[in-house]
Amino acid sequence: MKNLKRFKRKRKPNQDNWFSCTKGHFGDEGFYGLYPLSVRDAFLCDFKQFDAWVILDSLGLSAVKILDTREFPVLFVNIRDGDAPTKEEVDRIIDFAENYDKVLISCIGAHGRTGTILAIWIHLKDPTQEDPILRVRRVYCKKAVETMKQAEFIYDYLGLKPNKEVLKDFQIRRFNLWFGDSWDSWDRSW
Ligand SMILES: [Zn+2]
Repeated sequence: MKNLKRFKRKRKPNQDNWFSCTKGHFGDEGFYGLYPLSVRDAFLCDFKQFDAWVILDSLGLSAVKILDTREFPVLFVNIRDGDAPTKEEVDRIIDFAENYDKVLISCIGAHGRTGTILAIWIHLKDPTQEDPILRVRRVYCKKAVETMKQAEFIYDYLGLKPNKEVLKDFQIRRFNLWFGDSWDSWDRSW
């Protein structure tokens, strides 16, 4: 019980559901040439401004039909929701993206899979001492990188020592997902 209490205290007040994102991602901001695009927001994106598109979920392929008929290079790398890419897939994405000035990158919410690639990309383009996951959350979106598997992959790919504090945050999230709101009310009455 002591451990459960500790988890509870670490939750931030008024924390919204970590799946939701109050701002959309429709290619409105880019990081060293990579522009996150949530497939849900694809209809808001002005594709004419971009040179190429990396699609990480098959649902993104259905959005291709909204493109005009001009040549638009697309790289499709199918990664399951919540999963991490392989090192070879990241290499392929980076090789592709570096050929163009403005490249869209998409999964469903543009947080997990997209956030994973973006964390690696930003760190490689401008290496600093800052933790790559905390950094992508600071500069892009606090929802970026959704699972422990993705987080561990980022450290592994970049050859960095895993940040225990960041990884602990994923355990807390998973715990809150299991218990949801009922956990809150149960805890208050404890
Ligand atoms: Zn977001």
